[in-house]
Amino acid sequence: MSEPYDYTTTSDAPVAVIGAGLAGLSCAKVLASHGRAVTVFEKARGPSGRCATREQRAEPGARYDHGAQYYTVRSQSFRAQHEHWLAHGVSALWSARIGVWEPSQRQLAVKTDAQERYIGTPGMSALGRHLADEVRAQGGSVQYEAAVIAIEGRQQAWHVRLQDGSLHGPYRAVVCTAPAAQAAALVGPHAIDLGQLAQSLVAHPCWALMLECEPDLAPELDGVFVNEHALSWLAREVSKPARAARNQWVVQAAPSWSTSHLELEADAAARAMLRLLQEWLIDQGRAAAAAALDRPAHAVAHRWRYSIPAQARAERYAVSSCGSLLLAGDAHGGPRIEGAWLSGAAAGSHCVSHLGGKP
Ligand SMILES: Cc1cc2nc3c(=O)[nH]c(=O)nc-3n(C[C@H](O)[C@H](O)[C@H](O)COP(=O)(O)OP(=O)(O)OC[C@H]3O[C@@H](n4cnc5c(N)ncnc54)[C@H](O)[C@@H]3O)c2cc1C
Repeated sequence: MSEPYDYTTTSDAPVAVIGAGLAGLSCAKVLASHGRAVTVFEKARGPSGRCATREQRAEPGARYDHGAQYYTVRSQSFRAQHEHWLAHGVSALWSARIGVWEPSQRQLAVKTDAQERYIGTPGMSALGRHLADEVRAQGGSVQYEAAVIAIEGRQQAWHVRLQDGSLHGPYRAVVCTAPAAQAAALVGPHAIDLGQLAQSLVAHPCWALMLECEPDLAPELDGVFVNEHALSWLAREVSKPARAARNQWVVQAAPSWSTSHLELEADAAARAMLRLLQEWLIDQGRAAAAAALDRPAHAVAHRWRYSIPAQARAERYAVSSCGSLLLAGDAHGGPRIEGAWLSGAAAGSHCVSHLGGKP
């Protein structure tokens, strides 16, 4: 284990944030808006993390929200961010006809609830992209294809080592928002308590199927909660504002099925989920839709090794005893989009209040 670092000696150095999901970007936005230097390192080619949109390059207009499906608003501070997204046209109300399938009833029932559901436009990843643009506009740096493989302490300051071998720093603090299992490996060598905490935060996996087929699966509904089944959720992409007019669905497998089939190849997972879907449709007497799944226009499965936390901590972030290594993300005070955003913002505010230096 390396020695603890005293950030006060490097008080003018930037803060490094690992991960450009909603937690990392909300953290960076708080720092940048207070005039603090911040650099975000993201291993993917773009922002937004699990709040994701997959474009099918070979098929113009084909776009799937294969990660988070929608967000809800519960807290006042997140409401301000939500209204900001609405005002900038990157979010919209999803007026979805939601159904619920109960195994005992063997038919879809319309769910009547007062829940308002919002989606990113033109895709869920627009939320993260907008945050990243704002961080940059306020002088922050967001770097993509920049996977952090280690945090290193050198000359009384933190540095980060990227997969390409480059070393970046010094930083006065590092905020790690990678999913907890990945964060454990980064912070553990420097802060045993944080490493152990991160390791204890379990997340459910999720297989998501991106599907296009003719005829439509359930034309009368836009989203379906499937209870006590290997499948858990279906969403009709075209029912969301600013989506292409195609019969595209995202189908999610339940945590238990996803866990027991986690190591399948993506093609095998897609075939297995199509079979589950066919059986489920036949159960409801939707034979034509079930038969269409023998030859779908598109069927690609994506494995999320970490989708949502099995249980989130009550605290919104965690700080090492040296005060300059932080953990944030949806496992901290979350879960979900709102929780991730609140967690990042709280970690950013902590850095603003507790780190020395400008302004
Ligand atoms: C299938 C699925 C369905 C969901 N449905 C919903 C829903 O309907 N509503 C809802 O509110 N939420 C939903 N969620 C949860 C929601 O997506 C998350 O809670 C939220 O997006 C988490 O944000 P985050 O910033 O904490 O983590 P992430 O979005 O995971 O961001 C972490 C980022 O860190 C990056 N990273 C990881 N390791 C490194 C490294 N070593 N170096 C650099 N970068 C790294 C990752 O690439 C990622 O971009 C769903 C999630 C999934 C997967």
